[in-house]
Amino acid sequence: MRKQIAAANWKMNLTLQQGEALLDGILGKVSSLGKDQQVVFAVPFPYLSQAQQKIAGKEQVFIAAQNCYNKKSGAFTGEVSVEMLQSLGIQWVVLGHSERREYFGESDQFLAEKVNIVLENGLTPLFCCGEALQIREANTQNEFVGNQLKASLFHLSAEQIQKVVIAYEPIWAIGTGKTASSAQAQEMHAFIRAELAAKYGAEVASNISILYGGSVKAANAVEIFGQPDVDGGLVGGASLIADEFVSIINGLK
Ligand code: 13P
Repeated sequence: MRKQIAAANWKMNLTLQQGEALLDGILGKVSSLGKDQQVVFAVPFPYLSQAQQKIAGKEQVFIAAQNCYNKKSGAFTGEVSVEMLQSLGIQWVVLGHSERREYFGESDQFLAEKVNIVLENGLTPLFCCGEALQIREANTQNEFVGNQLKASLFHLSAEQIQKVVIAYEPIWAIGTGKTASSAQAQEMHAFIRAELAAKYGAEVASNISILYGGSVKAANAVEIFGQPDVDGGLVGGASLIADEFVSIINGLK
């Protein structure tokens, strides 16, 4: 059974003290996760170590970095390697968020290299894809997202791809309060799964968790997560409010 996952993306928000209080507030209220449910907190680099200590002993809860570099080590001032993350006990890395693609010029090829190094080190890449508004308006979103997957993931083996978690985040729904309808989310998730099945076979495709991201909140989580091909969410704004995120976790299938 593929995992159902509630992932928080704090982006560039909160001080260390605010982040610790938020984690305490959430972790204190989620005691009983189902065996196929997981919770992930993607926190800023400087807080990874403290956050990792807070989740110690909680088997289904993970801390993620929001990014990493595509090289093993060396003269890359300001960058963070997968080995560094691993040395802190971090097991997940968010890759290819639309904000990184847009503001930091991350290309499909660069992301393919990051996916490789994350998998080589045994961490889980949470790989983001999703189209901008004009692509949705032109009704070419399937082709666009299909190409993102092919360019950054489809060089992987069947064994490797099953270690990737995919997040579909339509850019027009991020931070806008404008969620994709549950039908739009399901349609794209089914398309992504069909692409995975065409390349790797139906069984492999059925093992891969595909999260939805874009204005997920307590009020819409149950309906969106209830769609057959939606396996939870990647949550920005609402993950910064303890009660909201606890409700979102409780909305997992
Ligand atoms: P919002 O939930 O704030 O729309 O952000 C979604 C997102 O980008 C998560 O990575």
